[in-house]
This record gives sequence, structure tokens and C-alpha cells, in this order.
Amino acid sequence: KLSIDHIVKRFGPSVAVDDVSLSIPTGELVCLLGPSGCGKSTVLRMVAGFEMPSAGRIAIDGEDVGTLPPNRRPTGMVFQGHALWSHMTVAQNIAFGLKLRHLPRATVNQKVAEVLELVGLKGFEHRHPGQLSGGQQQRVAIARCVVLEPKILLMDEPFSALDAHLRVRLREEVRTIQRRLGLTTVFVTHDQEEALTLADRIVVMNAGRIEQIGTPDSIYGRPGTRFVAGFIGTMN
Ligand code: ATP
Ligand code: MG
Repeated sequence: KLSIDHIVKRFGPSVAVDDVSLSIPTGELVCLLGPSGCGKSTVLRMVAGFEMPSAGRIAIDGEDVGTLPPNRRPTGMVFQGHALWSHMTVAQNIAFGLKLRHLPRATVNQKVAEVLELVGLKGFEHRHPGQLSGGQQQRVAIARCVVLEPKILLMDEPFSALDAHLRVRLREEVRTIQRRLGLTTVFVTHDQEEALTLADRIVVMNAGRIEQIGTPDSIYGRPGTRFVAGFIGTMN
């Protein structure tokens, strides 16, 4: 369970995140949806422990994220640019974090094989990232993250660089993987359609604040503010 309690983030005089509270039960997929600059990535980065809130508290299963050392943070993040290591093979990219944990080689190999199967890339272990399509690279990025068995999966516009077709497919694949593993997931997007099709619940943000939290059905059918109505209404 992820508990975000009245968090604020200031950068100098400006307020990027302004009193955001949110509780996400285990296994739920929540989309943070809102226009550019509304504070989505900043919220995600604070959940990941990359940034400290100026005020408020974030806890995962009761443990304060701010007090956990980096190697004990139970979060995994998938970024927009896949950021794979180009000089390493697919298998080496995925195994890297496991090796840092000093797992035996046989265990590492088995976990890598399992996760490659999960993301549909069996047989690709010896390729280099440069020999993969954009979608395949992003699957490796997901594999590299989930192989570490995070409690919380954080995704920041992971598919925005891909074409529309591939975006839809990867969205469905993420949903399948997320359900199968029961992963609590926060997925950031500025794409209304993506949020409406993917989320258990959507959090609509605007100017650092939460406008509305609800199921896709309720956000779409009963927008709670003029902003939400306008933002959902401008679907392209
Ligand atoms: P986008 O959809 O464009 O990625 P976003 O919703 O993720 O936008 P954030 O990146 O969270 O938005 O930024 C929220 C606000 O905080 C913006 O006004 C941004 O300029 C500001 N901001 C973010 N990071 C910093 C920083 N390190 N220093 C100063 N201001 C920052
Ligand atoms: Mg962002």
C-alpha cells in the first residue's frame, strides 16, 4: 500500500506540487493524468525517493520512503527514454541489478529467463539494445525493472516516444504483467485515452493540485470540475 500524505514540493518560490494526498491499495494501477508542468513527474520522483518533499510524508507499507536508504527502496521506475546500457546485451541489462544483490549466478539466469518470457522476448537475450526496435527496448526496460520485484512500479510516460499502434500494444502488455504480478503501479501520462483505458483509478492533476480522483468511468461520465471536463473533452 502506498500512502501519500499532504505532500508539497517547492522549487525556490514556485510550488510544483501543492498538498497532494493519495492512497493506493496493493495491486491497483493508478494513472496520474494532467497537462505538461502540472507536477506529475515530481510526484513520481518523490515516491521513488529521488526527491524529498518540502512537506508531507510518503509511506510504502507503513515505511517512510524518506528514511529508507536507496538500495532498500521498494520502488522500480521505468522512464520515457529506455536508458538501457548499449554496450551490454539484453540479458546483461536485466541481470545487472540482480548481480548488485549478490544473487547466485544460477538464480540470476533463471530470473532473467522468466522475466524475458513474461515480456515476450525469449530468444533475445544475446542481442544488444541497438539491435532491437523501440518497443522491444521498452520491454527490456520493463523487464529490468520488474525482475527486481519492486512493491511499487512507477512509470513516467513510458511509451510516449513510440507510435500509436505500439503504444496501445505495450499498454495492454503492461496491464497483463501488472495484473499477473499484482503490482501496485503509478503510471504517469498526459494522454487522456491512455489513462481511461489503462487505469483502475485516475488522478487528474492541474497546477500541482488534484482536481479529481475516480474510476475511468466516473472521470469520463461525471467530471467533477470544469477543468476535468475540459481536459477529458479535448481528447484527440
Ligand atoms: P510533463 O507532462 O511536461 O512531463 P509534469 O506534469 O511531469 O510535466 P513536472 O516535471 O512535475 O511536470 O514539473 C512541475 C513543475 O515543477 C513545472 O513547472 C516544472 O518547471 C517545475 N520543476 C520540475 N522540476 C524542477 C526542478 N528540478 N527545478 C525547478 N523547477 C522544477
Ligand atoms: Mg513529466
